[in-house]
Amino acid sequence: MKDSLEDIQNRGFGIIDKYICSNCVKNEFAKNWIKRNAKIKTTCSYCGKKTNCLYMEEFLKFLMAAIKYYFEPAEGNLGYDSEEKTYLGRTYDKYEIAYKLIEALQIDFTKELADDIKDVLNDILLCDRNPYGTSQLQFCENSWKRFSHLVKYKTRYLFYADDTKCQLEKAFMSASEMLDYTASYLEKLNLFTTLKPNVKFKRARIVENNLEINEKEMASPPYYQAKNNRMSAEGISAFYATFEDDVAKEEALNSEKDLTGKKLVIADFVNLNELKCLDLTKILELNLPDWLDINKSSEREVILFYRYLHKALSSPIKKSDTKNKNIEYVPTQIFAEYCKEVLKVDGIIYSSSVYQNGKCIVLFVDHEACLTPKKNDIITFENKQKLKYISHKIFSF
Ligand SMILES: [Zn+2]
Repeated sequence: MKDSLEDIQNRGFGIIDKYICSNCVKNEFAKNWIKRNAKIKTTCSYCGKKTNCLYMEEFLKFLMAAIKYYFEPAEGNLGYDSEEKTYLGRTYDKYEIAYKLIEALQIDFTKELADDIKDVLNDILLCDRNPYGTSQLQFCENSWKRFSHLVKYKTRYLFYADDTKCQLEKAFMSASEMLDYTASYLEKLNLFTTLKPNVKFKRARIVENNLEINEKEMASPPYYQAKNNRMSAEGISAFYATFEDDVAKEEALNSEKDLTGKKLVIADFVNLNELKCLDLTKILELNLPDWLDINKSSEREVILFYRYLHKALSSPIKKSDTKNKNIEYVPTQIFAEYCKEVLKVDGIIYSSSVYQNGKCIVLFVDHEACLTPKKNDIITFENKQKLKYISHKIFSF
């Protein structure tokens, strides 16, 4: 009897003499785990079907592994104010823990299984594991926020000195560590893509009605006209395009308010050689490991950080930020330059901020590299033609 009481204390739940089948939970990871381990042919206590079942205590051990991974007892781990008789930090009672499990399993709150989970858990107050530390995900998100602030308002071009500062404090990654960290999983997560020659790029411009349209006008702007943009700073020419007319149209119309006396032109260009690109839109397709899958929790945190990064890199500039529009793109411009210079990519594919599910691309191809070379041009690796103008369409307003 003493042993079993001790057992119950250690395992975190009481006695429950029931069986469960894989059909009784919706969460895919838990469902598959039950399927793999359900060896007893009996009647499921929850749906009444005679099928391969798992003893409920086995299933609870599996659930408690996740709880023990994310939480620990408040007593001994969280500060306690003996005058106020409260813990100094977030705590979770058994019902809040049960709620987390019920939510993770995607089961109905009113069903018997949910009631059993609520009833059977030990009545111990828990807190987050390592309650005064930050998770890897929080650390990464905070570091990105700090990086953005640093390059916008403190130091923009030379942030090497930041390394020593951050090494002392350890609360954030330094600016250069941040860039290296974001790069470190790109290959593993399969976010690079190679565009074979002849991909059609749609480049849109809103121009004066009387402007004659040719490859020169539709190419990347010459350096003296290159404006401050999401992935390139003022004076640095880059080729911004999309893959569909509708997205190109929407992107162009979004940036131009006064359309009187103007027309919209969409030109098609193709690439002459293979292009290695970073495809940030692939982040949205990554499979996020389940919360219950504790062996993959670091992978889960990495993917959650990349989702956060994707949002930070492709979200529209807020109305309240427009006064400072010139500096709002600085963090993405530095990220893009890092990709170009260090990771040696030819371009970045990212989500359109104005057209749902639309994709945009920036190619690090300047004005000259969009033009057909003239007879006497001296061709260097810098001005070598990379994109070829094909045709254009005009839309009047
Ligand atoms: Zn069942």
